[in-house]
Amino acid sequence: MFSLVEEADFKRLQPPAYVTGGIVNLKLKDAVTAARAMMPGLKTVVLVGADWDRQVLFRNWKDQAAAGIPGLDIIEIIGRPMPEIVERVAALPDHSAIIYTGLYSDGKGNYYPPSDALTFVAARANRPIVVAAETFLGAGGIGGFVIVPSLIGAEAAGRALRILDGEAPEGLPPSVIDAVKPIFNWRQMQHWDVSEASLPKGSEIRFREPSFLEKYRWRAVALAVALLVQTALIAFLLHERHMRRSAEVEARSRLSELAHINRQATAGELSSSIAHELNQPLGSILTNAESAELILASPTPDLQEVREIISDIKRDDLRASEVIRRMRSLLKRAPFEKKEIDLNQTMREAFDFLKLQASARNVAIYLQTSPQTLRVKGDPVQLQQVILNLVVNSMDAMAKMPYGRTIIGRTEVNGDASAVISISDSGPGIPQDRLNDIFDPFFTTKEQGMGIGLSIARTIVLAHSGKLWAENQSGGGAVFHLSLPLAA
Ligand code: ADP
Repeated sequence: MFSLVEEADFKRLQPPAYVTGGIVNLKLKDAVTAARAMMPGLKTVVLVGADWDRQVLFRNWKDQAAAGIPGLDIIEIIGRPMPEIVERVAALPDHSAIIYTGLYSDGKGNYYPPSDALTFVAARANRPIVVAAETFLGAGGIGGFVIVPSLIGAEAAGRALRILDGEAPEGLPPSVIDAVKPIFNWRQMQHWDVSEASLPKGSEIRFREPSFLEKYRWRAVALAVALLVQTALIAFLLHERHMRRSAEVEARSRLSELAHINRQATAGELSSSIAHELNQPLGSILTNAESAELILASPTPDLQEVREIISDIKRDDLRASEVIRRMRSLLKRAPFEKKEIDLNQTMREAFDFLKLQASARNVAIYLQTSPQTLRVKGDPVQLQQVILNLVVNSMDAMAKMPYGRTIIGRTEVNGDASAVISISDSGPGIPQDRLNDIFDPFFTTKEQGMGIGLSIARTIVLAHSGKLWAENQSGGGAVFHLSLPLAA
């Protein structure tokens, strides 16, 4: 029993019927097919190997090479000494590929295992080396239709076992076995820039280095999932931010509306004192005008005196229009709008406005502003409304006191981060357990009260990133504090 014979040899040998084994058909044509796949536009194949006569499996390629291959030049470096081989394979022409059959000795007394010899050749070759045996794949060959020893072994063992089991060799005639497969070396393919797509159909690739994705599959999947989750989260947060913005805009315009109504109510409360404030300058204008008429009616009018009267009239007129201007600015329906303002100034204007109301209600009102300017970002009309609400509440709280009604307004800096306004009164104070409730909408202890003044005030302050809270003073009376961040 033999394990393997090349087909042409088998035909030549014509063994008797009791001889059996596997036959392979090794064709130079197949090696050329592989070379064409490795080298686009192949023009030359270079056969490298031992003397044809010393070769066992590829001896028959001698005749196949001699017959020629259409469209290809064939160079034979066969049976040459190693130094000559390595020199020649280093200088091969373009569009050529080497086909290595096997080198056992160089004919000069040097012997090699054929895969070692291939390593020497591959180290110098300037073109890819197609091989025809699997054992040459790792030694520098790029691959090809290779004979696979393990398949030959398995086939031979199967045949031997059947004979040992008693089958007659004559019943197992020699047959062609399927031991030649297209197998290629991934590293060599990378080196010679050969793409997977150009390989013959059904090719197997060895020594493949896993791609980044193959190597780090789970980490890549985890990363991709994390990225997706993150993207979804960002999209969600952006959406939420958009919704919050719209809600904020909505809330602010509602706040402006409500604040406007509350201001109208305050203005209503203040109207008697405003009428009084207007009546005063109007009354003196009338008196002055009448005096001027009288003076002018005399035969020798004192023009100097008339001039003085006219300038008094002008002053009173300005006073009246100032009252109207303040009233209008208070009642203006304006959208919430922040700008840089001086809190002392805002406080002064509000207190000026309240002075008359205070004297009409028998309240002594004082203002102590901080020496330094208090720059904050805010809407002056809205902030004035907060101050107005607080002061009017204080006046209400003291309404039943026979005497000693006092309101003190203060502005000061707290550290270098915030400005604080406090408004204190000498009223009854707020029951300790109600200090927070008073800011709830519709909380009121007054017969005619609406209970929205403080809740609007707190909402306005929150919209300014500030705080509004109430305390009772140790000496009696309530104090309200309003803190706002100072503008940078
Ligand atoms: P309203 O003035 O319509 O009652 P507010 O929201 O302005 O609504 O005030 C709510 C309640 O807070 C008042 O009814 C009152 O009981 C209490 N309050 C507010 N300011 C003072 C103060 N300075 N002293 C005592 N109680 C006060």
